[in-house]
Amino acid sequence: MASERLLLVTDRKDLREMLASSLLEPAGYEVLIAENGAQGLAKALADSPHLIIADHTLADISALEMLLGIQETGPHIPAMLIGDGTTSTEALDAIRVGVVDYFEPPFDTGELLTSIHRQLDHETRRPHSIASSGALTALHDIGQAITSSLDLEIVLGKVVEEAVRLSNAEEGVLMLLDPETEELFTRASKSAVEDSVRNLRLPVNDSLAGQVVGTGLPMLVSEGEHKIKTEYLVKSLLYVPLHLMGQVIGVLGVSNRISERVFTQEDAEVLNVLANYSAIAISNARAFEEMHVERARFRTMLEQSSDAMLVVDELGYIVLINQGACEALNLDPLDVLGRTIDEAITNHDVHGIFERIDQDAIIRGEVEVSDGRTFNAQLTPIEGMGRVVVMQDVTHLKELDRMKTQFVTTVSHDLRSPLTAILGYIEFIGRVGELNTQQEDFVERVKTSVRAMTNLINDLLDLGRIEAGMDREKEPVNLGDVLAQVQDTLQASSDTKGQQFEFICPDNLPMVFGNPLRLRQALSNLVDNAIKYTPEGGRVDLITEAHGDHIHVRISDTGVGISRADQPYIFDQFYRAEDVQQTHVGTGLGLSIVKSIIESHEGRIWVESQPDEGTTFTVMLPIYVPGKGLTDSPHAP
Ligand code: ADP
Repeated sequence: MASERLLLVTDRKDLREMLASSLLEPAGYEVLIAENGAQGLAKALADSPHLIIADHTLADISALEMLLGIQETGPHIPAMLIGDGTTSTEALDAIRVGVVDYFEPPFDTGELLTSIHRQLDHETRRPHSIASSGALTALHDIGQAITSSLDLEIVLGKVVEEAVRLSNAEEGVLMLLDPETEELFTRASKSAVEDSVRNLRLPVNDSLAGQVVGTGLPMLVSEGEHKIKTEYLVKSLLYVPLHLMGQVIGVLGVSNRISERVFTQEDAEVLNVLANYSAIAISNARAFEEMHVERARFRTMLEQSSDAMLVVDELGYIVLINQGACEALNLDPLDVLGRTIDEAITNHDVHGIFERIDQDAIIRGEVEVSDGRTFNAQLTPIEGMGRVVVMQDVTHLKELDRMKTQFVTTVSHDLRSPLTAILGYIEFIGRVGELNTQQEDFVERVKTSVRAMTNLINDLLDLGRIEAGMDREKEPVNLGDVLAQVQDTLQASSDTKGQQFEFICPDNLPMVFGNPLRLRQALSNLVDNAIKYTPEGGRVDLITEAHGDHIHVRISDTGVGISRADQPYIFDQFYRAEDVQQTHVGTGLGLSIVKSIIESHEGRIWVESQPDEGTTFTVMLPIYVPGKGLTDSPHAP
């Protein structure tokens, strides 16, 4: 005994001195001193004392944290706590970290010494001490069973089995509350006598277990015979509640019907820990079940959706694909899951959408698949998840659109011949006889109207051709030359209105890749509008410059401007601002043709305007990179 080492951990100097020099050393113990928790931890690990006596409240880490640290990394060392009162949760924690005794001030030094002797000499052990009866190992095993199994049958079965074993009981039962019937029903049971508890159903308002549910407190019955339900008598029993999120969801109980052995407070503590484990297991299982149901629901929705869907994670691996997407892209889900888009999918349009990385923005595009269908695809980035692509089959809409364009083209084409004839005959009218002034005026009006109709028809035919993907041929184009031609053609009409027409274009402007005729048509249209909607004496600027990998062309005027309300619609077919409808001739098709042309060159166009001050259209076109070209979209002209 005399050679045994004690580690005394306290930051209270007077207590240290009193215990070490007046009590423990005179009793023959070697006393190691630690002045705080951190020192205590280090000394316990370095010197392996036979017993630790620790102050409950330490300034740095708590005594329980220190003991936990020792338990996790070092040998099992029994410990005693001295200090002010602990809560019941702390008491349980204390037992788990090897505390064998506890002394509250003012403590009897004689008792303390006796306890130390007893502990070190291993003279007597408490018959059901949690630390010494193997309960800790059992609790540890159950903890592991819970984290490694989501099977509630296994976990709860083990809980009841251990409850019976550790409390030396004849039978054990775990009952859960059925909120609908207000009854407790057996979820797991174990009996050494007969299986009387297997199918127990007890009303909450009329049973001992029900009382535990009601009060939320353990119940220890130890004397006389007690009726749990009719014809079911026990000599002693112990029930503890199962708490889950502030509610009692059931009880864990053990009982003896034959043995006279009574249950102790320590049994209650063990059962409490087991009940907590059960509640965790039930909570895990419920969460898992809910997740499972949600997952199944989501999967069904996904599978049954008529849209094709595809989800890739943040690293670009396919994590989800539905039947629709597999059918559309000709894929086997088993082949593609867990592979990247590049590895698993051959469709160029899908690749194109994934390549247009725009951080958080939604990306839209068309996807044509091998069976001829067209899908409208939308890629949405979702933070923390990856990217989701939803593709809607728009084949029928594309077909309708194509039929509409074809109809308009046919009708326009058929109308052009009679109009040419009308115009021709009108020209002849004056040659076959003298016309009076009024007749001449009428003929002029007919001519103007027929020309307007011809313009409209030409515009419609153009739009049809562009939308149908005609004039697809593209080549490297010197935009400076195209702009010079535009200026050349329209300078005269600007001069007629006495406008100042400024043309600025650098000589070394990089090339763009496109169709020169269509680009000229688009730019002419914009300059023509600028001249048309700018009063006499105004100003029109055509300024071009290269910006990074794009060329910017700005067409500005000091004309009538476009109201804020009209601005969103001016690129729509047949849209004309209300205030110009009477004053300026036009079809309302020009800007929609311009937009189609610019977009088919992978460019952008936008407008800035102030009514009565002027308008600026900006066209942005990508600079030609040899060998790259543009995406060969079937819709591009
Ligand atoms: P329109 O044949 O009517 O000119 P556009 O499609 O070319 O048809 O233009 C659509 C409408 O946009 C015009 O009717 C006009 O209201 C407005 N607009 C276009 N360009 C200008 C401009 N430079 N200044 C003011 N309004 C303009």
